[in-house]
Amino acid sequence: MSGRFAFQVLKRDPGTGARRGRMTTQHGEVETPAFMPVGTAGTVKAMTPQDLATLGFELILGNAYHLALRPGEDLVRRLGGLHRFMGWEGSILTDSGGFQVLSLADRCAISDDGVAFRSHLDGSLLTMTPERSLSIQDALGSDIVMAFDDCPPLPSGLERLLEAVRRTTLWARRSRDAFRGDGRALFGIVQGGDDGELRERSVEEITALGFEGYAIGGVSVGESAERSRSIVALTAPRLPEDQPRYLMGMGTPSDLVEMVALGCDLFDCVLPTRNARNGTLFTTTGRLQIKRREFADDPRPVDEACGCPVCRGFSRAYLRHLYAAGEILSMRLNTLHNLHHYADLMRRARAAIEAGRYAEFLTNFRARAAEAEASAADGDKAHGRDVPARPGAHRGARGTRGRSGSIAGEKIE
Ligand SMILES: [Zn+2]
Repeated sequence: MSGRFAFQVLKRDPGTGARRGRMTTQHGEVETPAFMPVGTAGTVKAMTPQDLATLGFELILGNAYHLALRPGEDLVRRLGGLHRFMGWEGSILTDSGGFQVLSLADRCAISDDGVAFRSHLDGSLLTMTPERSLSIQDALGSDIVMAFDDCPPLPSGLERLLEAVRRTTLWARRSRDAFRGDGRALFGIVQGGDDGELRERSVEEITALGFEGYAIGGVSVGESAERSRSIVALTAPRLPEDQPRYLMGMGTPSDLVEMVALGCDLFDCVLPTRNARNGTLFTTTGRLQIKRREFADDPRPVDEACGCPVCRGFSRAYLRHLYAAGEILSMRLNTLHNLHHYADLMRRARAAIEAGRYAEFLTNFRARAAEAEASAADGDKAHGRDVPARPGAHRGARGTRGRSGSIAGEKIE
């Protein structure tokens, strides 16, 4: 562990806003654009740290809120910090808990001081402030620490959005003051809802404070996919050119490919891992619901074009059987495949930027996605089925957000 946080843009794509970069943390290098698997509670569900490294991930996401509640940050600190505690040698970014405390909206009271809330585990009354969040993240030993922010859901009235921008700046300053540094990075978070002027104001205020990187928060919080993308389109280009940009909680494969083109460098989302556990697998020809009867005696791999150990070693029929039987291995294999799909997509995106051909990559990706959608619709008609969720249409179906947590508090990941 040595050195300071650094970020270098290695190459800019001539046809889009995409950038190929390299981030250096105390735990190594992170090639960007990069997707971060979500390891909310000190584990990316069903994966060992070695699995993640083998899949090619260099950075994962942990969560201050969840780890403070259980097992408690002091215990993690005593046991050598989160890296040692969970056996992960790569880099860790921790979310500040701002989103999580507010996603339990009926159970919290927010003021300029911070958020008073009830634990989703035992109902005890707790308080989260910028200082408390920074102290938790310090105890965890995160490489990238997130400022504490006020993240309202969408739609929210203008007054609430204004308040969130003001308070996010106030809390960003307090986060900055409480940050101990030590070669780690602190990222500021931009809010502003779906209001262009407020986004602009938040960018100005947060960048004026000076952080090692900037996150676009307050997206994928109830609005449509199109709206999320338009928020990013008007926010990302205003962020500093030479610093990392992290798009929080947005992450269908199509989101990633499109948002890379707008200049985003880092992504996280529970989608590949949560969907895996629900039996929804991402493939190069669209999504596949492994529980469907049609796969019962299908000897083919999940995705003919996938080189992951699951597709090399197992049939759809076997994966469907594991899912139907509620076997633990089902979650593990499905997660391995989905995370491999995401890692591979980002690898190909990085290669396309390096070659100066990201525009072409984007066009081809869109064409394949449209084709997959059309053939899925045909298949549904032929089989007389209800049309399942389409890529990019997950928002309507979930009531949960990409960023770890959920609006209704039904399941906190
Ligand atoms: Zn695979």
